[in-house]
Amino acid sequence: MLIVENEELRKIECIINEKMKWIICTRCDRGIPPEYLQTHLWTKHKIDCSDDTLNSIITGRELMTFESIKAWKKNTFALEAVIGGIAVETGHKCIECGHCTPVWGSMTDHFVKNHEGKDARECTEADVQMQAPFGGELKKWLEIIDSSAMEVDEENESAWDAVKVLLAKKRRRARASTGREENVRLLNGFVARTRWDILIEGHDKKQLRALAAIAKEKDPLHKVMKVSEKYFTEISDKLRVGDVLLRRKIESEG
Ligand SMILES: [Zn+2]
Ligand SMILES: [Zn+2]
Repeated sequence: MLIVENEELRKIECIINEKMKWIICTRCDRGIPPEYLQTHLWTKHKIDCSDDTLNSIITGRELMTFESIKAWKKNTFALEAVIGGIAVETGHKCIECGHCTPVWGSMTDHFVKNHEGKDARECTEADVQMQAPFGGELKKWLEIIDSSAMEVDEENESAWDAVKVLLAKKRRRARASTGREENVRLLNGFVARTRWDILIEGHDKKQLRALAAIAKEKDPLHKVMKVSEKYFTEISDKLRVGDVLLRRKIESEG
């Protein structure tokens, strides 16, 4: 699973994004470096996170440290897709350098500092979807390139299940259509070989249908029908039993 939630995480109102290797505070919808988790929870939300709880949550998860998040921030300029667990905001993007912010005042400041003489209105894009995964020193608004896409983990079972269902549906449709085609072809071949169309030409169709109809229960023909049906059922049952025995034998040999 991409987003981890368990009893311990619920106690401190956090989740873990397994793909990003981040622990996320669900009150802020923002990542918290593990080094600052206890301080953040206590000062911001008065949530007590003991050393034991912290250790059991982070042990074996290889979560990104403050330093590695800092490096990630430095090297990341946009997000391919929405990062699960992090709040999404709509804001402004500077066309000159790609800088993003949901606050217009902060964008005009950006223009004063970085693009002197340029008009902020003219050189920005509005209604841009963005995420700032961390706060404080690590804060940086990043544009989401494809906001309709959610990050997909290869090991995300539900996503794979969805794909499998789609593939199965496609296969079934293909099979159904070829099955129908084969039937038509068979029918055409049968008619072509026997020339039924010629044989029944000029005959009373109603009478032919009555002759070919399934026999009624009191009809002696019905008994013949029953017997032949039983005959075939028995053969099929025998084959089925044989198959099971054979399978058992193969299994015991194996
Ligand atoms: Zn928080
Ligand atoms: Zn700029």
